[in-house]
Amino acid sequence: MSQDSPRRARVSEGTPSPWINKHQNVVQDFERLFSVQNPRRPIVNFFKDLRLTVSAIQGLIEDAIRDKTTLRAIGGGWSLSHAAVTDGRLIDTLALNWAFPADSTSVTNAYAGDPSLLMYLQCGVSVREANDLLFGQPAKLALKTSGASNGQTIAGAIATGTHGSRFRFGSMQDYVVGLHIVTGPDRAIWIERASYPVFSDALVADLGAELIRDDVLFNAALVSFGSFGVIHGVLIEAEPLYLLEVSRRRMPIDEKLRRVMASLDFGGIDMPGPGKEPFHFEVVINPHDVKGGAYVTSMYDREYRDGYEPPPVSPGGLGPGDDVLGVMGKIGDRLPGLVGKLANLIVPAEYPLLNKVLGAPAEVFYSNTDFQKVMSAEIGVAMEDAPRVLDLMLAAPEAKNYAGLLAFRWVKGSKALLAFTKFDTTCTIELPAAYADNTMDYYNAVWDGMERAGIPYTLHWGQINNFTPERVGNMYGAAADQWIASRNALLDSDSRAVFTSPFLKQCGLG
Ligand SMILES: Cc1cc2nc3c(=O)[nH]c(=O)nc-3n(C[C@H](O)[C@H](O)[C@H](O)COP(=O)(O)OP(=O)(O)OC[C@H]3O[C@@H](n4cnc5c(N)ncnc54)[C@H](O)[C@@H]3O)c2cc1C
Repeated sequence: MSQDSPRRARVSEGTPSPWINKHQNVVQDFERLFSVQNPRRPIVNFFKDLRLTVSAIQGLIEDAIRDKTTLRAIGGGWSLSHAAVTDGRLIDTLALNWAFPADSTSVTNAYAGDPSLLMYLQCGVSVREANDLLFGQPAKLALKTSGASNGQTIAGAIATGTHGSRFRFGSMQDYVVGLHIVTGPDRAIWIERASYPVFSDALVADLGAELIRDDVLFNAALVSFGSFGVIHGVLIEAEPLYLLEVSRRRMPIDEKLRRVMASLDFGGIDMPGPGKEPFHFEVVINPHDVKGGAYVTSMYDREYRDGYEPPPVSPGGLGPGDDVLGVMGKIGDRLPGLVGKLANLIVPAEYPLLNKVLGAPAEVFYSNTDFQKVMSAEIGVAMEDAPRVLDLMLAAPEAKNYAGLLAFRWVKGSKALLAFTKFDTTCTIELPAAYADNTMDYYNAVWDGMERAGIPYTLHWGQINNFTPERVGNMYGAAADQWIASRNALLDSDSRAVFTSPFLKQCGLG
């Protein structure tokens, strides 16, 4: 670029149709795919450059309105549902990975938190990059929680309500305190809760955004899977860096364990950190080896210190906290199409027992990057219903041919209107499995069984689902209506038409 040419963000055409997600179960035909990049480094004026990127996104929205087509931002492509895509135009956001820490000059006087823990992350910052950025701060910081793996972008993870198992805290969207959203060809908004104001007027002006403080609108936009515009950046509250002490043991699937699963009262079982409540708790059951007991993982928070031995990585490249989805991918990898017994070979190798292994969150929730074709659905139920859902899952005749696992985690209910972790404490049950027809048969059997038994449930937006307008209405009731009303309030009709998608229509939300 010559010295005289104006600085600008760059928009380039990406690969031709179709788009395929990272784990290869979603194939979507599209009209055009764009990649948006920030102005070239060195950064001349940070906020001015950010505004150039916002303008580039606004240009794409303007074109989509003119051409009467749809537009949607894609994150890491880790969703296993069609949430991330549309049949119109797609925006690859992975290059939008700038960030800045806030400080006391960035916030309004009414901000009740600690400004030194605030970090603005541009939408395409991956969870892995966010961990590195936070670790690199002078007072080392960490994410309060994340999913079990780290390849999502921050905006993509939040948009579907990604969670771990920090059951006294919540999901990833629950540490977001500000959203910078490009909602139309001439508009970008900075939205926060009225009950929790954060950024000063001056900082919002630097971003070139219109300030909106409204609890309902904010709670609607948090989990909105690309339907409220293009999220340009999110403001998160981080935490001083901590260590996790991870243990994984096998325990009989008996009344004692079932009581813990329904109450998170750990009194009745032998825990690795007696007298202290774990930070994170997970129960994984291999339906082909019920007699061998559950794999019970507990993680205790410990003060950060240097010089600890880093945690082990499995032969397949999975960290100790990595998702069982990574584990099940290994099955499809080695012998596609075979069921059942393979789980008994793979699980012990890729999901080893552990005794008080230490690691920073970034090391524990660490992921390999070779992607296998997998399937996964994730169900949210009230904690109290966890044992009877387990019974139903094990009793389904389709379980015999299901080459997958049952993974139970617990998450505090979220304020986001469409968070699938909507119960006071939600038990999330992930069903990671090999890519096979039998897997879909099992999912359908479980969903039908829960509906017949009248067990209220939700489903992860970013995983395989059975959404219809009626089911989404049953899952969210008045919250779904509030979400639609909030979207109508924030987007004009042209922008709403652009940010709809076949997925949104399937759900009765757009
Ligand atoms: C191996 C694996 C492990 C997983 N582990 C967990 C887990 O532990 N817990 C859990 O809850 N989930 C888990 N998931 C699901 C995953 O976290 C979610 O599906 C997540 O949304 C994926 O994020 P992404 O960045 O890949 O976004 P994508 O899948 O690309 O997109 C997700 C949504 O975000 C929207 N979006 C992305 N960027 C923007 C933007 N800039 N503006 C507006 N909208 C945007 C998209 O439109 C889409 O609706 C896992 C998935 C896999 C494959």
